Amino acid sequence: MELPRVVVVGPRVAEKIGSTLQDLELGNKGIILSGPIVKELLQWSVLPSLADSGFKSSWELVGTSSFAEVERVAALAREQKADFLVGAGGGRSIDIAKLASFECKIPFVSVPTSASHDGISSPFGSVKGLDRPYSIVAKPPIAIIADTLFISKAPQKLLVSGCGDLISKKTAVKDWELSHERTGEYFGRYSANLALLSANMIMEDAEMISSITSEGISVVVEALISSGVAAGIAGSSRPCSGSEHLFSHAMDIVAPGKGLHGEKCGMGTIMMSKLHGLDYKEIRQTLQTIGSPVRAGEIGATSDDVIKALVLARSIRKERYTILEEAKLSEESARKLAADVGVI
Ligand SMILES: [Zn+2]
Repeated sequence: MELPRVVVVGPRVAEKIGSTLQDLELGNKGIILSGPIVKELLQWSVLPSLADSGFKSSWELVGTSSFAEVERVAALAREQKADFLVGAGGGRSIDIAKLASFECKIPFVSVPTSASHDGISSPFGSVKGLDRPYSIVAKPPIAIIADTLFISKAPQKLLVSGCGDLISKKTAVKDWELSHERTGEYFGRYSANLALLSANMIMEDAEMISSITSEGISVVVEALISSGVAAGIAGSSRPCSGSEHLFSHAMDIVAPGKGLHGEKCGMGTIMMSKLHGLDYKEIRQTLQTIGSPVRAGEIGATSDDVIKALVLARSIRKERYTILEEAKLSEESARKLAADVGVI
């Protein structure tokens, strides 16, 4: 199991990145990766802080998280003899830093500027392939520096999406347990409970999170970090990703560009919890309280998109046993499921 060595969450922690990284003996040269907006916001505080602590760093703008972009950054890191990479942003830059650093066998630091999914702390990176997105096993960040001041300035929609990704651990863990029973797959109780804890915190604090207080933001950020750590402990994304994620991935294919990852996972959780016999009404109500979409129309998707994705979901990751293997949804039963729980 590999875990982050330093996790700091709070306002203005990005300004102290230099002193935070100093104790980690990462070496001297770091490359910070981000998009243009994050660079504009962060470079004024991050670069001087790194310089004050004796780091030689440079900033590199990155594009979409594609295999080509990961290769380009890895080549750059080798050429500049970088000792570590820093991924600063919502997800894309963190994914690129995660995968390029893994390829170069150097550590990476995660500086999330939004709290939209658990990739900010997990060992898994996703890149766009030609036909579909791929999830790749790499290493978790050596340090996570989550500046809640920046995160609070990100669009509320992103935080809400993070909550959907967290609530999805409810069905992900159920699917993992089911697979353990049916196929004998390894089941880690500790990591499963850690992932569930993250989901339960969001359920309990839904009201507070919806009012976007700094306390609420910290709850979401810490839950996302714990959830990524749960995946690190399990050594797989199992505690964090089950049938509801398969639905979300299927929606990426059926209705590309409609809805955020966590929003689709949230809707998937409502439907999969019905299949698992969980209290789907409570899950639906929590998502509504937080302001996360519960109906296809809210993300601009149609009933047909949802039905197609439900039928397709089972074949997305054949090796992953979930409730979808047992439900064997047809177009007709998928329509009934989605309509019963109010997603369509
Ligand atoms: Zn997710």
